[in-house]
Amino acid sequence: MNTLDTDYLVIGAGAVGLAFADTLAHESSAQIVVADRRGTPGGHWNDAYGFVTLHQPSAFYGVASLPLGSGRIDSVGPNRGCHELASGAEVTGYFDRVVQQSLLPTGRVQFRPMCEVRERDGQVFLVSLLSGEETLVNVRRRVVDASYYGTTIPATHTRRFEVADGARVVPPNALPALWQPRLGGGRAPGQIVILGAGKTAMDVALWLLQCGLPPSRITWVMPRDSWLINRATTQPELAFFEASFGSQAAQMEALVQCHTAEEIFERLEAAGVMLRIHADVKPTMFHYATMAEGEVAELRRVTQVLRQGRVARVEPGALVFVNGTRVAIPEDSLCIDCTATAVERRPQVPVFQPGRIVLQMVRIPQPAFSAALVAHLEARGLEAEDEGSPETDTARNALCTPVPLPDGIEHFPRASVVGLANQMAWGRDRELRGWIRQCRLDGFGRLVEQIGPDDTARQAVLARLGAAARQVPFAAARWMAD
Ligand SMILES: Cc1cc2nc3c(=O)[nH]c(=O)nc-3n(C[C@H](O)[C@H](O)[C@H](O)COP(=O)(O)OP(=O)(O)OC[C@H]3O[C@@H](n4cnc5c(N)ncnc54)[C@H](O)[C@@H]3O)c2cc1C
Repeated sequence: MNTLDTDYLVIGAGAVGLAFADTLAHESSAQIVVADRRGTPGGHWNDAYGFVTLHQPSAFYGVASLPLGSGRIDSVGPNRGCHELASGAEVTGYFDRVVQQSLLPTGRVQFRPMCEVRERDGQVFLVSLLSGEETLVNVRRRVVDASYYGTTIPATHTRRFEVADGARVVPPNALPALWQPRLGGGRAPGQIVILGAGKTAMDVALWLLQCGLPPSRITWVMPRDSWLINRATTQPELAFFEASFGSQAAQMEALVQCHTAEEIFERLEAAGVMLRIHADVKPTMFHYATMAEGEVAELRRVTQVLRQGRVARVEPGALVFVNGTRVAIPEDSLCIDCTATAVERRPQVPVFQPGRIVLQMVRIPQPAFSAALVAHLEARGLEAEDEGSPETDTARNALCTPVPLPDGIEHFPRASVVGLANQMAWGRDRELRGWIRQCRLDGFGRLVEQIGPDDTARQAVLARLGAAARQVPFAAARWMAD
């Protein structure tokens, strides 16, 4: 059997695995193997629908060593005034550049596409999906699991509803290819039925409207309504300083002053931090989907919304819901499956373990920044070891409590409290604080440095944020109870 020696084996060449490998490769002399079942880097972005984009600015997405995008502020469209959002094609092109131009030239990183990592009897193998050949990997330091969240998208997930013969259900990827006769194209569907209410479903609705489809031709199955982050509060730009830092302050104040999650969201809506599509429905879901106000206004044009919970079965001419309700739809409807869960909500486990790192979000919703920060701590540990003063995993884990991913709105306060506790721990670590300030994936730290003492308005926002953050630990117990 072939063998391969390396310091680190990273499982997965998605955004998370690459952000980790990039920081570790540039901050240490470690040898790293990055393996992925897929044939090209970028993880789920390789299978994304053609009209997908990031929902947060390109400015702080990707890996630390290579900028994504040109720093453009969009001048047209619903994202007008905000930082550019890379398209799916830009994201996959970017991750290819990361591998080719930033990782491989170090001479210490290998990318192994079409290879599955399998672990058995305490040993780690790379299995080629093309030849079936197994390679035993001798990992000198750690296996890095960058697949823990098990990201799924409609094109690759397993549906949790039945599709009867003759019913047409496709993933969003099929929409731009509808003209192709072999996909049943050339025949306009009577009605487009969007199944699901997350970010993908919103992207589909926006794209259909943008293509000129009248809203009356769209039916939207919304099992749950979702709160959305107002994209104006996520802009790493001085012009948006009050919106972004003010929104952070508003979130801290809400954690301190409110007693229910519902109250928190309503308060944040009033402060312009959170948005919802339908003002008369109380959203119960929160996955950090981020939208511009202009996009939400567009989505409101779709008024045929079915709120009967999840669909159990799609039949020609009918939707059957889990609650037993049957709703008629035109026979020639085309249903778009937007029901993938995106990330599995798995238990939080320690990030640093003997011989292993399990990458999880330590700042939410920033998986790439989180992975880079963990890699920095690992690289710092290697340096400390060389200097004869090793750091312990206990100390590293104290800086990296995994943030529990919210699903319902009731999970949001806890996620915020854990995220803030990490942030405060980082603030007490001088070296780490400095690293964060210069990291492109942070986005916001360097804005603070641009605020002079005479800028009283912005200094007041920072003072408000600091005061609120100091209060949160006193209210934390309220939100941490199981
Ligand atoms: C439509 C969409 C838009 C998004 N927009 C943003 C955004 O704007 N900003 C943001 O921060 N986040 C965004 N996200 C969140 C997104 O999930 C993350 O940014 C990121 O792309 C997830 O990367 P990942 O590496 O965790 O997962 P993946 O992309 O799924 O990569 C994991 C990789 O691991 C591989 N793998 C798993 N197990 C093994 C194994 N045993 N052996 C070999 N390979 C294995 C898989 O093949 C896969 O390629 C978005 C997500 C979606 C779906």
